[in-house]
Amino acid sequence: MRYGIFSDIHSNLEAFETVLEFYDRAGIKDYIFCGDIVGYGPNPNECVTRVFGLKNMIIVAGNHDRAAAKLKDISWFNPAAKEAILWTSDQLTQINIQTLSAIGDSYKSEKFMTVHGSPSNPIDEYLLSTDKMKANVPLITQPVCFVGHSHVPFHYSYDSKLPYDNDDLMTLIGSTMIVLDPDKKNIVNVGSVGQPRDGDPRACTAVFNTDSFEVSFFRFEYDIKTVQKKMIDYNLPQILIDRLSQGK
Ligand code: ZN
Repeated sequence: MRYGIFSDIHSNLEAFETVLEFYDRAGIKDYIFCGDIVGYGPNPNECVTRVFGLKNMIIVAGNHDRAAAKLKDISWFNPAAKEAILWTSDQLTQINIQTLSAIGDSYKSEKFMTVHGSPSNPIDEYLLSTDKMKANVPLITQPVCFVGHSHVPFHYSYDSKLPYDNDDLMTLIGSTMIVLDPDKKNIVNVGSVGQPRDGDPRACTAVFNTDSFEVSFFRFEYDIKTVQKKMIDYNLPQILIDRLSQGK
């Protein structure tokens, strides 16, 4: 079975549509979404509607989804993120706030699990250091845990059966393919559709084949200028507008 797997749309409809057109061309009909439909970008309602219009969707909530639905304290958000979240909450329809509120924080099936942040703190923890990843290994009950949140695609693996530390962390650059060893504990960050932070501004998305355990990453150019123009019109913070074309 092949899943289209992606994360962190952040109200960027142009990037999301570009990714969905690719999935359509590739004949993908099942999806895994690792959280943060909204926050930062100009089209929160459209993105919520589009995500929930997809059939066969596995979905977990991100910190911005919870914050926009007013289920989370935003005092620790940076000023630009906070401003965008307040704007987003204001824009969201009542039905879309209810929809966001109802998303669970983790999902598990036979071959994989997914959370936005980390297994120990599904909504908020950033997995950026190998120490944090290693600390989460005992909580990974399936061969692979897919995450989002940091907007940087990577693959971490750990063999719990070996009597010594055997960390392996790889940042995934551009369109690339990895093959997971299902006997290890794997953490895969699938990057960000709508606000990449790995220096590559192109929308990031992936396909997971549950038979071969291959994860293929793809990067797509999209109409960044149109998104930026809308953000200017809505008076969203300049730093959020600039970072889209910088990819960081
Ligand atoms: Zn995010």
